[in-house]
Amino acid sequence: MPLIKPPQGPPVELRLSRDLVRTLKRGHPWVFADALRHLPPARPGSPAILLDNKKGRPVAHGFYHAQSPLAFRVCSPNPDEPLTNAWAEAQLTRALRLRKTVVPAQTSGYRLFNGEGDGLPGLICDVYSDTAVMQLDGPGPTGFWDAAGIARWLAEQLRLKQVVLKPQARSSGTDQLLVGQLAVNPVPFLENGVHFVADVINGQKTGFFLDQRNNRKLVGQMAANRAVLNVFGYTGGFSVYAGLGGASRVTTVDLSGPALQTAEYHWHSNNLPPAQHRAIKADAFSFLADAAKTKNTWDLVVVDPPSFAPSKETLKTGLAAYQKLITAAAAVVNVDGLLAAASCSSHVDLAAFLLVCEEGVSKARRRATVLAIAGQPADHPTPLVFSEFRYLKFVLMRVE
Ligand code: SAH
Repeated sequence: MPLIKPPQGPPVELRLSRDLVRTLKRGHPWVFADALRHLPPARPGSPAILLDNKKGRPVAHGFYHAQSPLAFRVCSPNPDEPLTNAWAEAQLTRALRLRKTVVPAQTSGYRLFNGEGDGLPGLICDVYSDTAVMQLDGPGPTGFWDAAGIARWLAEQLRLKQVVLKPQARSSGTDQLLVGQLAVNPVPFLENGVHFVADVINGQKTGFFLDQRNNRKLVGQMAANRAVLNVFGYTGGFSVYAGLGGASRVTTVDLSGPALQTAEYHWHSNNLPPAQHRAIKADAFSFLADAAKTKNTWDLVVVDPPSFAPSKETLKTGLAAYQKLITAAAAVVNVDGLLAAASCSSHVDLAAFLLVCEEGVSKARRRATVLAIAGQPADHPTPLVFSEFRYLKFVLMRVE
């Protein structure tokens, strides 16, 4: 089965203009256009070989997109390893093998391919029971990987009934069903024994935020007898874990009506008492401001917003927004209650986020103790040298 598109001739030769060999050998997977001497014309995703800036010796194999600032992505830092179909199959198999050891029991929703973290640049795939959802990160990966071939290979390996290829943004195309006839959607799956569904067509990301699995479990463990507020709750992942963990009551706040309906559905399908959950459609900032005004407080507050700093340019305003949110959230936590704050922005590193937490809590005239710092689970692996890929930060605090 073809897993990569057949090359049209020998690999494109690209020459570094800077000495990046050390970082590349350490496993950094990206070379930007400004570090290349020439940008020869080639179709997006053409296989390429990278040569060093000194003697022109081969450094790595990968693929090339001349029009993108991210011009070259490393597939193999071994120049003696050409990018054949057998190479691709070995990479995919290795990713499957890792999941066999890291996906927890009673969990059928997990990330199977995490792009660069699995040595599969730009290839993302999440599995929900017998459905897989693939995403390709732009024209380079789309030109290199054979999505239809990978889908058929996966269906065979994992006995999947359907494989969906989802565009990264709604604006850049529609879903394609690569395996299967008529899309079955939403798809039920288990996470640590908790029942959820993923809307693989209309949902955010591939349908569910699998990256928060361990953090949801932690919140569940801390929730007994506490009144819990889940802000930016989406389909209620944190809420359901809190309910199952024995929370006295749970409030889920989100701007999206359909997401909240699914949150209600998740609550019921896990046999939790309906009277103990409230779903509120509201803007997070206005909701928290109103709660502070009316002296409404909780024992455990979760804030897991969308990325406030999606680019380097928005970093400053993004940090300010995180800080404002943490101040507003800390203000509605009971004394010695808990605040769980998350950021999914790759531009905000852990040190910056902790500083934002410090400033935010202090602006609320409170103090906090850190109980846990976490990130993505092991089915979201990242190259050690590539800290930007560890986008998720999760800080659990006791607010005094
Ligand atoms: N915690 C969730 C994921 C949150 S994703 C989980 O574990 O599954 C971010 C959510 O924030 C989305 O559901 C989006 O609808 C919501 N959102 C975005 N802006 C918002 C705002 N201003 N107020 C409330 N919710 C918002």
